[in-house]
Amino acid sequence: TGTLFVCGTPIGNLGDISRRLEEVLQQADLVAAEDTRRSSQLLNHLGIRKPLVSYHEHNLRKSGEALMEKLKSGMNIALVSDAGMPGISDPGEVLIESCIREGIHVELIAGPVAGIHALILSGLPTARFAFEGFPDRNKKTRRSQFEALVRDERTLIFYEAPHRLEATLKDMLACFGDRRIAVARELTKRYEEFVRGTVTEAIRHFEAQAPKGEFVIVLAGADPLEAGTDGAEAPEEDEVLRELM
Ligand code: SAM
Repeated sequence: TGTLFVCGTPIGNLGDISRRLEEVLQQADLVAAEDTRRSSQLLNHLGIRKPLVSYHEHNLRKSGEALMEKLKSGMNIALVSDAGMPGISDPGEVLIESCIREGIHVELIAGPVAGIHALILSGLPTARFAFEGFPDRNKKTRRSQFEALVRDERTLIFYEAPHRLEATLKDMLACFGDRRIAVARELTKRYEEFVRGTVTEAIRHFEAQAPKGEFVIVLAGADPLEAGTDGAEAPEEDEVLRELM
């Protein structure tokens, strides 16, 4: 059988193309791409000509089955998404799972992930974090997603579209309070920018200057001291401790 090479690609800066990515794309029999037009630009940039097959959100099953057949017949396939790492808020997960289930070798060609990039430059704690992807588009669902995270002490990472950024920041203020936040824009690109401060400050910033481009929101987790004093858990824990002693 062949190998599925899961390929991380740049999130904006073509300088992030690794030598290994170039080698794998050169050697693959086929490239499975989320958007064949965007990926052919990447291949053109590298001077590589390969057959491209589309593999996106809406043809996951059908295209996935055809790709599995090709892998079983011995073809090596490079899987690329529009930007960053396949499988992270991008198609890939289903195909990778099928390969693992059917004993087809899967290799990862490492590359940038926007969320991790933003986390590292956020200035917020990195020891424990949770990646939450895109908040729901529906305000009510989004708020209940946030409510479920209010006591989470881990740094929280979200992706958001520019036209929903303000609404999401306002919902964050309502649910999480005025925590520390870092909003990353256009990472690795010419107009890369960070807005670091409180949620209120971020809202003010984007009210004055309409959000444009691609965004990652990194939000501080719950303060462990506060989380311990306002809930019903603290006395319960004390009781358990007393009993243990
Ligand atoms: N697979 C990608 C990854 O590994 O990060 C994520 C794909 S997801 C469909 C696209 C979202 O990722 C964008 O809407 C934005 O929230 C975030 N993103 C991707 N590239 C970015 C960049 N250069 N700067 C800021 N955010 C970015």
